[in-house]
Amino acid sequence: MQFTEEHQALRKTVRDFVEKEINPNCDEWEREGRYPIHEIFRKLGDLSLLGIQKPEDYGGMGLDYSYNLVAAEEFGIAAAGGVPLSIGVQTDMCTPALARFGSTEQKEEFLRPAITGEKVGCIGVSEVGAGSDVAGLKTNAKSDGDDYIINGHKMWITNAPSADFICLLANTSDDKPHKNKSLIIVPMDTPGISVAPHLDKLGMRSSETAQVFFDDVRVPKRNRIGAEGTGFMMQMLQFQEERLWGAANVIKALEGCVDKTIDYCRERETFGQPLINNQAIHFRMAELQTEIEALRALTYQACELHVAQKDVTQLASMAKLKAGRLGREVTDACLQYWGGNGYMWDNPVSRAYRDVRLVSVGGGADEIMLGIICKLMGTLPGKQKGDS
Ligand SMILES: Cc1cc2nc3c(=O)[nH]c(=O)nc-3n(C[C@H](O)[C@H](O)[C@H](O)COP(=O)(O)OP(=O)(O)OC[C@H]3O[C@@H](n4cnc5c(N)ncnc54)[C@H](O)[C@@H]3O)c2cc1C
Repeated sequence: MQFTEEHQALRKTVRDFVEKEINPNCDEWEREGRYPIHEIFRKLGDLSLLGIQKPEDYGGMGLDYSYNLVAAEEFGIAAAGGVPLSIGVQTDMCTPALARFGSTEQKEEFLRPAITGEKVGCIGVSEVGAGSDVAGLKTNAKSDGDDYIINGHKMWITNAPSADFICLLANTSDDKPHKNKSLIIVPMDTPGISVAPHLDKLGMRSSETAQVFFDDVRVPKRNRIGAEGTGFMMQMLQFQEERLWGAANVIKALEGCVDKTIDYCRERETFGQPLINNQAIHFRMAELQTEIEALRALTYQACELHVAQKDVTQLASMAKLKAGRLGREVTDACLQYWGGNGYMWDNPVSRAYRDVRLVSVGGGADEIMLGIICKLMGTLPGKQKGDS
């Protein structure tokens, strides 16, 4: 990746924002289990940070994905993962399909205010009975003249309690599971939508995640993104950016764990000398930093190809898999060297240990990434390389 002065300026803008607006408040937001999302999003919107890659016609910066990646990486310096996660939902999970395939009217109504930060979005794919198996979801949108009538529910929806719209994946016909789905933008104040109290999570506690119910929710068909039945394909494309964002966002969070652990091990003495003087510890830190650099290289390579409009399904899946696995390894190893202090709830490494654990589960679990990689390697039983 060749970073320009513009990339570095963007990095600094994000870093300054995190240090000024997010980090001083993280402990309080983590305790409360939420943060003032509309206020923060409006401030991000004022700096154009919610529309880095989005079209200029709708208020975005019109830059390529490498700038998005730089921002995702820099948001990783946040003192709690929940706030960046919720920003990533807005920029890289619930709006990519809208920006790419949405109509002019949809973009005016939903994309423009998502970029300015006036509207908060969420992405509704997972259900109680369908997380990994996206094709098996049951929420349906039945045709009724110019409208759809939506019934069903969505589970684990980040930002839902504060969201103004949901980008919803629902069945719009009885066709085959990969051909019967559509992405529909549904305003969250539409009658028939209810949001359960936010879920009590292991980590990412400053972001809200909740179950959303749809009971005869009437929405105009003009809110459907693209042609009926193309929602599964669009969501799979949208997942590529979600996965790249997830990998990029972990890099600096993990580096932060290593740096803080080194600082702690310099101060903390056992048997008359600083912990860091133990070769087992300073070698381990060197190993972890090496692994983080490898994750960075993989993520940058995927990003470069994505910018060149190549298919990055395999590389993005590899980056997401590596980020999840390494996230568990780094946070676990670092926590160990903090001893009892590392086991305390508010310890920064213990918080990262809980936050980063999500990466192996959300947005496609490690095993789903392995399945995609195997499929593209041609090693899945019954599948040949190139089969769709
Ligand atoms: C904090 C949080 C935020 C989230 N935010 C959102 C959101 O905003 N929008 C949204 O739509 N969803 C969201 N999700 C849902 C998330 O994407 C799903 O939890 C995830 O896709 C896994 O689905 P599942 O929980 O149903 O696990 P399941 O599908 O039940 O799988 C359970 C486990 O089984 C294993 N597994 C599954 N399939 C296979 C297989 N074929 N082979 C081998 N092993 C397998 C995996 O280890 C997996 O973790 C969120 C989840 C969490 C925890």
